[in-house]
Amino acid sequence: PNAKVLRNGQTAEIPSREVVVGDILYLDAGDFIPADGRLIMNHSLQVNESSLTGESLAVQKELEPITEADVSLGDRKNMIFSGSFVTYGRATSVVTNTGMQTEIGKIAGLLESAQEKKTPLQITLDHFGKRLAIAIIFIALIIFSVDIYRGQEIVDSFMFAVALAVAAIPEALSSIVTIVLAFGTQKMAKENAIMRQLHAVESLGSISVICSDKTGTLTQNKMTVQKVLVDKRVIAHDQLNTEHPLEKNFLLMALLCNDSITMDKKEIGDPTEVALTNLGEEYGMDELVVREEYQRTGEIPFDSDRKLMSTVNKVDGRYIMITKGALDVLLSRVSKMDTSEGLVEFTEQQRRKIEKINRDFSTEGLRVLCFAYKEVREDQEINIVDENDLIFVGLTAMMDPPRPESKEAVESCISAGIKPVMITGDHKITAAAIARQIGILKDESEAIEGVEIEKFTDEQLREKVEHLSVYARVSPEHKIRIVKAWQDKGNVVAMTGDGVNDAPALKQADIGIAMGITGTEVAKDASSMILTDDNFSTIVKAVSNGRSIYANINNSIRFLLSGNTAGILSVLYASMLALPVPFAPVHLLFINLLTDSLPAIALGLEPHNKKIMKEKPRDVHQPLLNLSFLNKVGIGGLLIAISTLIAFHIGLETGNEAVASTMAFSTLCLARLFHGFNTRSKQSIFHIGVFTNHYLWFALILGIILLHLVLFIPPLMGVFEVATLTGTQLGYIYGLSIMPLIVIQLYKVIFVR
Ligand code: ATP
Repeated sequence: PNAKVLRNGQTAEIPSREVVVGDILYLDAGDFIPADGRLIMNHSLQVNESSLTGESLAVQKELEPITEADVSLGDRKNMIFSGSFVTYGRATSVVTNTGMQTEIGKIAGLLESAQEKKTPLQITLDHFGKRLAIAIIFIALIIFSVDIYRGQEIVDSFMFAVALAVAAIPEALSSIVTIVLAFGTQKMAKENAIMRQLHAVESLGSISVICSDKTGTLTQNKMTVQKVLVDKRVIAHDQLNTEHPLEKNFLLMALLCNDSITMDKKEIGDPTEVALTNLGEEYGMDELVVREEYQRTGEIPFDSDRKLMSTVNKVDGRYIMITKGALDVLLSRVSKMDTSEGLVEFTEQQRRKIEKINRDFSTEGLRVLCFAYKEVREDQEINIVDENDLIFVGLTAMMDPPRPESKEAVESCISAGIKPVMITGDHKITAAAIARQIGILKDESEAIEGVEIEKFTDEQLREKVEHLSVYARVSPEHKIRIVKAWQDKGNVVAMTGDGVNDAPALKQADIGIAMGITGTEVAKDASSMILTDDNFSTIVKAVSNGRSIYANINNSIRFLLSGNTAGILSVLYASMLALPVPFAPVHLLFINLLTDSLPAIALGLEPHNKKIMKEKPRDVHQPLLNLSFLNKVGIGGLLIAISTLIAFHIGLETGNEAVASTMAFSTLCLARLFHGFNTRSKQSIFHIGVFTNHYLWFALILGIILLHLVLFIPPLMGVFEVATLTGTQLGYIYGLSIMPLIVIQLYKVIFVR
């Protein structure tokens, strides 16, 4: 998390850990509080201190110092505490304690108790591992008992049992899954999607609905004012006349009811407000100069539920409350109108005219902001009840073009069986116009407003949800209902969010996605993924990565298990026919831990198959180890076992037990290495490209080198109990090892389309 502090006379955003005692800290809604501090300026600050006090209701902060000695934390209203977060308002504070000296630092033990959870895949594999281990111990005991009964040497029988156990247990499985997930998330982070929870990577492949914000995610969030309505006239943004009192006043209001700053071409603040600051700049009006001249004496911060913001400024000795916000919210609070003929009653006819202009602007995809004001008393502390009985001054219409990549990303979603849904606080017509441009909306009836959702019961919403693509004027509470409705229909839902109020919806969604640039720390904390570029197309890329990572892990596991199956089948065969033990445990450990691990990781890094986004989302309820998966494992294992056992028999015929065991071990090792190419994809390697996975070639070559070291370097030959092989025997080993690859590739070339 970052913190906004005053450094070298300027506001700077720094990592929270760099905050020091004495820093001046600026706080806005959604910020995490990085240190303990004393308030020195307060605009209706409300803070959630539940991590400290357990009280989940937000606490209203005040500037007055508390004088009593031992007052409880929750009652120290002039102090803010590290570990809590701002739910509403703004404030400035001076840092009094950091790190372990803070109140939460003193109870740091609580913070350390959070543990990384295992992913569903890891849990499935753990279960599988446990069951496999029990089954193997059981079978090994039976084999051991039968052999003893048959009168075999106790040492031989024991060796069989141990060999079987080592062959069957996939020692590297769990670590390989973790390694592949780690590599995958690293790649995703480079592509602007930071996964906060490992298990979310698996769920990405199952997402069937993506609910996305409009502003900044589907659009560029680079707003520019295009047109202005003042004094009943629509004027282009560059045609305002600053000599005209109403037009000048309008520009002043746009700069005063505004917290953004543009300095040396750097824009700080909400893009909607930056657009207004830039409009002032077109007329040589500097926001800081204007704000110095007309001091702010009060404010009600913007919040996306209310969709309004108000400030009180001292203008020529009078106190003027300026309110700006969504037209449909503000217009109903207007009773008069400012015109060049003076103040006039705001008639029904006027309302209809302005609404018509609003519709025209919105149809062009423009975002409309409405401005109004009224005079207040000097000592009046304004609150939301005062945002009434206002005087209408004008409108601004801003353009926020769609991101160029949004259209393609939406198409990609649809072809991947994922429904893209736009959820926005903006006006319905504006939202629909943008949604149509990028392909989310096909028909007008697919757009709906938040107030309409309120009229639906949960059941009705569930019935309608599949036919709706655009939700406008939505508040964060509506978002939760939308997510739930989709989930009730059996979908896996991703939802984006940035504000503090979005946190519950982000938690409710299967994948909560927070905005890295505009998102509040609270939203980030509630999410499983953070977009560092706030871009919708990054979500789609992440889904594609998630699908590929899952498919690759699946292939890795299949590879490991088929190799182990081959080992089990070979040992069982030898035991049943009362032949000598085909492998020493050390042979199997060498394969399982060394020569098999590298191809398994290489398979996890298989380049992404572009066609993966043409498939439907994976069914979350389908188990990884399903029948078709186990079939493939069985067939792969059987083919490798056949090659291994033929080599074993050749060894027995042409040499002795030691030669036979060496031949079986070498064939098993090599055949498993070659089999890696079989598990790369459903399709043949000629279809996906023989050389496209460089890692697998590297793993193959390294595996062959390691095997040859063991076969031909005398000290290692002793350790690994191998006999000297003839050239012909080595030829057989290679010929037999490559057989499963040839058989399976031939099958794929002929039968898999
Ligand atoms: P999205 O939910 O897609 O990010 P949004 O940015 O339009 O869209 P909000 O920020 O909740 O959503 O804004 C909702 C409405 O509130 C806007 O359509 C606008 O009319 C109004 N609004 C936005 N920003 C401000 C602001 N700084 N001051 C006053 N009103 C604002």
